[in-house]
Amino acid sequence: MSEKIQSIPIAKPWIGEAEAEAAKRAIMSGWITQGPEVTAFEQEFSAYVGGKYACAVSNCTTALHLALLAVGVKPGDEVITVSHSYIATANSIRYCGGIPVFVDIEPQTYNINPILIEDVISDRTRAILIVHQIGMPCDLKAILDIAHRHKLPVIEDAACAIGSEILWNGQWDKIGKPHGDIACFSFHPRKIISTGDGGMLTTNNLEWDKQFRLWRQHGMSVPDTVRHGAKQVIFESYPMLGYNYRMTDIQAAVGREQLKRLPEIVERRRYLAQRYHEIIADIPGLKLPSEPAWAKSNWQSYCVKLPQKCDQKQVMQTMLDAGISTRRGIMCAHREAAYQQHETWLCANQRKDCQCSQGNCDRLFESEQAQDKTVLLPLFHQMTEPEQDYVVKVLKTACES
Ligand SMILES: *Cc1c(COP(=O)(O)O)cnc(C)c1O
Repeated sequence: MSEKIQSIPIAKPWIGEAEAEAAKRAIMSGWITQGPEVTAFEQEFSAYVGGKYACAVSNCTTALHLALLAVGVKPGDEVITVSHSYIATANSIRYCGGIPVFVDIEPQTYNINPILIEDVISDRTRAILIVHQIGMPCDLKAILDIAHRHKLPVIEDAACAIGSEILWNGQWDKIGKPHGDIACFSFHPRKIISTGDGGMLTTNNLEWDKQFRLWRQHGMSVPDTVRHGAKQVIFESYPMLGYNYRMTDIQAAVGREQLKRLPEIVERRRYLAQRYHEIIADIPGLKLPSEPAWAKSNWQSYCVKLPQKCDQKQVMQTMLDAGISTRRGIMCAHREAAYQQHETWLCANQRKDCQCSQGNCDRLFESEQAQDKTVLLPLFHQMTEPEQDYVVKVLKTACES
């Protein structure tokens, strides 16, 4: 008798009755777009990360767009970032007319390599956009040190990093306090907590927070919530170009319930990641992810690097045939057709004689390796130990064949 084929997804939101009830509460209140639930979610979120201000928006991509606008990124400006990220990171720079300048990653953490940043700073550099990739905190101390020396703002793409922590002045801080100038979060179902879609901006700068609130709602001078409750007629005006980047109250109500589950989710993910470390350890040549002493990841994804001899797609197919969903490592923006145009991005080479072509850049070697040689394994709150054992058993077979 053949072994029963299991079906193990790569990820699964932990969401249920409480969120459904919360959505119902918002719907039955009669106020369904941005309103009191959004305000409450923002307050609870900023309290969780330990920062001053939080502003909810439609998703993390729009959050990144507003963050870059706030620090003054204008057409032709350069923003230092990584190619090895979800493509929205680089795209948000281009929405401002800016040019992403790609820096390679550290092979241990898959995060931006701080040593390489100074080399690409020019008089056109306007900001540094770092990514806490798959929940692993960046080396913020080293990055902020460079940024302060060059008087550059730092934006944290913390799309995957809610619940991750960094050792800061002797204590564990939540990512998003923020430690840079602005942090941006995502509530897409592939992240740690979800509102379907949704995003959040955190900052300690009151002026920027006010600016975000105007931009997210068409640049409207007096919000609809204020006019709705007024005893006198008020006319709003539109003093600036704004956007519709609102989160709805239905989403925020769900988000508030998700936030309550967050500590338990992070605890469970950290337990499962630790368990992966222990049971995978004996696959020869397989490189496990590692957490620097000053970082606590929420393990949004568990990323392993395959032995050199293994073909990524083949390993993933073997696992899929056994009912296990995996994903390849994070992709590189510079290899995508959307980045084919030479003027849309720069790497360290392009300051001098650029020899690199799309899909093959010697200055982004580690980024390309990470895309081609890593695999993300299933990891979600409801995952059981036997499921995890099964994933490892199949992975082992796939690596050996
Ligand atoms: C998911 C993700 C985004 C985009 O988030 P959305 O909420 O889907 O817009 C941006 N950056 C990183 C690093 C991500 O993982």
